[in-house]
Amino acid sequence: MAVNKPVQDSWRAQTLAVRGGTRRSEFGETGEAIFATSGYVYEYAEQAEDAFRDRVDRFIYSRFSNPTVDMFQDRMALIEGAAMGKATATGMSAVFASMACMVEAGDHVVGSRALFGSCLYILTEILPKYGVETTIVDGTDLNQWEDALKRPTKFAFVETPSNPGLDIIDIQAVSDLAHKAGARVIVDNVFATPLLQKPLQLGADIVVYSATKHIDGQGRCLGGIVLGGEDYCENTLKPFLRHTGPSLSPFNAWVMLKGLETLDLRIRRHCENARVIADYLETRSDLAKVRYPGLKSHPQHDLAARQMSDFGNVVAFSHEGGKEAVFRFMNAMKLIDISNNLGDSKSLLTHPATTTHQRLTPEDRASLGLDDGMVRLSVGLENPLDVLDDLEQAFAAV
Ligand SMILES: *Cc1c(COP(=O)(O)O)cnc(C)c1O
Repeated sequence: MAVNKPVQDSWRAQTLAVRGGTRRSEFGETGEAIFATSGYVYEYAEQAEDAFRDRVDRFIYSRFSNPTVDMFQDRMALIEGAAMGKATATGMSAVFASMACMVEAGDHVVGSRALFGSCLYILTEILPKYGVETTIVDGTDLNQWEDALKRPTKFAFVETPSNPGLDIIDIQAVSDLAHKAGARVIVDNVFATPLLQKPLQLGADIVVYSATKHIDGQGRCLGGIVLGGEDYCENTLKPFLRHTGPSLSPFNAWVMLKGLETLDLRIRRHCENARVIADYLETRSDLAKVRYPGLKSHPQHDLAARQMSDFGNVVAFSHEGGKEAVFRFMNAMKLIDISNNLGDSKSLLTHPATTTHQRLTPEDRASLGLDDGMVRLSVGLENPLDVLDDLEQAFAAV
C-alpha cells in the first residue's frame, strides 16, 4: 500500500526540496519511481473518452503529463511558492514557452539587455518575426523601464543576476512599473536558484529555470521549468506546451528530483566557495575588474543583499591583458575546466566574448560591460583552496 505523507504547511524550503511532490506507488518505494512510459492504458473505451473530454483528471500521454515529471513540477512549485509549474526539455524551451504562449502579432514586450544569449535572441530575432515588437532596456536603469512601459505591454523579461556581467535588477521596482502597464513579469532565476531569491514574493508573476544548471548541478541532464499562477499555467501555458511538445523526459525529471534533495547543501557550499574566490580575486592588481554581487565593490551590492539571501556561485573578472592574456590563463588551468556550462559541482570557466556572447556586436558587448579580457567562473564544490591555487598558478603562467 502506498505511504504518502501529506506536505505540511509549516515545512520549509529544505524539507520541501527533499519531500515535496513525492507520490509513492503501491510498492511503497523510498526513492521516487521513474515512470518510463509514453502512454497509459484504459480499462474501457468509455474511460478514454472521459479522459479526452476532460471529465476525469488522469494520465493520457506523456507529452501532456507523466507521474515522475509531475513529482518534479510539484516539488519545484512548493519550493518556489508558486501555484503550479510545468517542466520542459530544456531551459530554453521553458523561456520560449513562457513568452510565446501569451503573445500575438501586434503585442509589445520589454526585456533587459543583459540576458543569456538565447533569451536575447528570442526577444530580438524570433518574436519580431511573428509580429511582436520588442523594446530592450538597460535593466539596471529604472528610467528606461518606465519609458518602455508607457505603452501597453504583454510582459517584461528580466534575468538577475545576469549572465555574464552579474548585473542586479530590482525585481520589485520593475514589477510595480510593469503591472501599471498591464504586463506580466517573467524572471529568469537561474543564477539565484529557487533557494536564494524568491521573485514571486518580490512581485514577479512567472519564474523560469534552466534545471540543467544548479538543480541537476552535476552536469548530467538538460531540463527546464516555468512556474506561476494557476490561471496562466492552466489556461495559457499548458495548452501551448501540450500542442508544441517540449516535454521533459521522465528520466531527466527523476535526475532533477534527486538534484533538488541536495540543492540546499550544494548551494551553501557553492556560495561559500565563490566568496573565497571573489575575495582572493579582488586582491589581484592585474585584474581590471572583479564582479560578484557579494562584494561591496559591486555597483548593486545593496540591492543584491536586499533581494537575495546569498550571492550565488558565479564570479566574473577581466584581465588587463585582454583576450590574449586571458586565453593563456585559461589554457594553463590544471583543475578548472573550460566549459560554457555553470552551476556544476566542477568549477567551470568560460570566455563569453568568444563563446556564449560571440553573436553580439562589439558595441552590444561593450554595453554589457563585456570586454575581451573577461571570463566567467562558475565556482564548483571542490575545496576552494585548490581552486584558488589553480587560479594563482594560471595567473603566474600569464
Ligand atoms: C543555461 C541558461 C538558460 C538556458 O538553459 P538550457 O537548459 O541550456 O536550455 C537560460 N537562462 C540562463 C540564465 C541560463 O544560464
